[in-house]
Amino acid sequence: MLTLDNPALLKQACYLAGNWSAADDGRTFAVHNPATGALLAELPYMGAAEAGRAIAAAEAALPGWRARSAKERAQLLRRWHDLMLANQQDLARIMTAEQGKPLAESQGEIAYAAGFIEWFAEEARRIDGDVLQHPQADKRIMVLKQPVGVCAAITPWNFPAAMITRKAGAALAAGCTMVVKPASLTPLTALALAELAGQAGIPAGVFSVMTGGADAIGTEFATNPTVRKLSFTGSTAVGAKLLAQCAGTIKKVSMELGGNAPFIVFDDADLDAAVDGLMASKFRNTGQTCVCANRVLVQDGIYDAFATRLAARMAELKVGNGMEEGVNQGPLINDEAVSKVEAHIIDALGKGATLLVGGKRHARGGTYFEPTLLGDVTADMLVAREETFGPLAPLFRFTTEADAIHMANDTEFGLASYFYSRDIGRIFRVAEALEYGMVGINVGAFSNEVGPFGGIKQSGLGREGSKYGLDDYLELKYLCLGGI
Ligand code: ADP
Repeated sequence: MLTLDNPALLKQACYLAGNWSAADDGRTFAVHNPATGALLAELPYMGAAEAGRAIAAAEAALPGWRARSAKERAQLLRRWHDLMLANQQDLARIMTAEQGKPLAESQGEIAYAAGFIEWFAEEARRIDGDVLQHPQADKRIMVLKQPVGVCAAITPWNFPAAMITRKAGAALAAGCTMVVKPASLTPLTALALAELAGQAGIPAGVFSVMTGGADAIGTEFATNPTVRKLSFTGSTAVGAKLLAQCAGTIKKVSMELGGNAPFIVFDDADLDAAVDGLMASKFRNTGQTCVCANRVLVQDGIYDAFATRLAARMAELKVGNGMEEGVNQGPLINDEAVSKVEAHIIDALGKGATLLVGGKRHARGGTYFEPTLLGDVTADMLVAREETFGPLAPLFRFTTEADAIHMANDTEFGLASYFYSRDIGRIFRVAEALEYGMVGINVGAFSNEVGPFGGIKQSGLGREGSKYGLDDYLELKYLCLGGI
């Protein structure tokens, strides 16, 4: 049983146009705890009709929301942020129950998620236009920044709160309204956030959350002409499909898609710091983040020393139910996720990799998996090409800096990358050569509300968080004023 201080945060309905609603046909789907298999809730299985109405409600709410002063919008966002922090423990319990991540990580994610709302509340008041010099003396050019309009968002299960607030914070601050469809595996955190948005006084229709059929709702979001922007975080395959669907009505899009992050350790690195960084990058959320190190590239001279130290640290990881004290590796989200990790290990071992730590399902059963370290991994193995999304660290050996850069960039993805070096010249050379939207240099984690998060190549379009994140929710309008 999930025990909460405020049981009203555990919802069994969707938040549309300020009301808690069921699906038109009364259909539901079940949400389970990945650690125990326990049933957590039955939620509405909505489809295109309900999505259409949610979009219409967002359209109806738009003129009022857009017309409020930036200060008023900022105050409401700030109240939402405060309520998230006031309910941090309950939100974290809900998140761990539906997602599996250790409770401490869930608490951290709630603070991180609230941080986006706070940040955009602050940024809301600095959406300033511009006055430019016209080439003719009797005219002036003014540039206004106006909200894009009705926005829709589709979010994944690995960060059930932060992937929503990173989008909704920017949208609402800019004066847009938004309908969100969270992942069906982790909708309860999203619905709890909607409850708090209502309590904060954010008006009906400005922020709605609906659950149900991903295909039907996604298609409605992407094709309904009222929606002016779609923001998606998830797999590259689904992102590409939504992008194609959005083409019909020329929508703005933000896409945060898959990655294949290289983590490069050069001979001159501080080895202990590099091991710490890898542990943080690889094993957060049991390896289920799009910025997790996927390929660990280690230079010849320190390869053995690095492998030995890393293996020792991995032996300290504690696998278990995220609600238990001291656990830092929860279950994987579902069986499919376990199968992918297994497939990557079997493929690599079959092609000559060596097993250094772990390698199989955990003795606890369910979707628990042993933190796994593979050595002598090469470019022809699946793990070199695909995102594992699990607790598997594959070590690749390289000789020169040029080799490392070539190997790191040899992928269609370009989200996160990391490297460890203490040579200032190398730091600039490598940072500039990596074809990635984000580069962690001597750090294993860099996500926060201030830095621009996003990828290049097939990892996405647009940036979230940061002062740049608002731009994706604003249109420029050019006014040309004559007769001066
Ligand atoms: P992940 O690998 O994170 O599960 P997905 O792309 O499958 O990535 O899921 C991310 C989000 O996209 C989830 O909210 C999921 O329900 C949604 N989704 C999955 N398939 C579709 C689809 N065909 N159209 C729209 N949304 C989808």
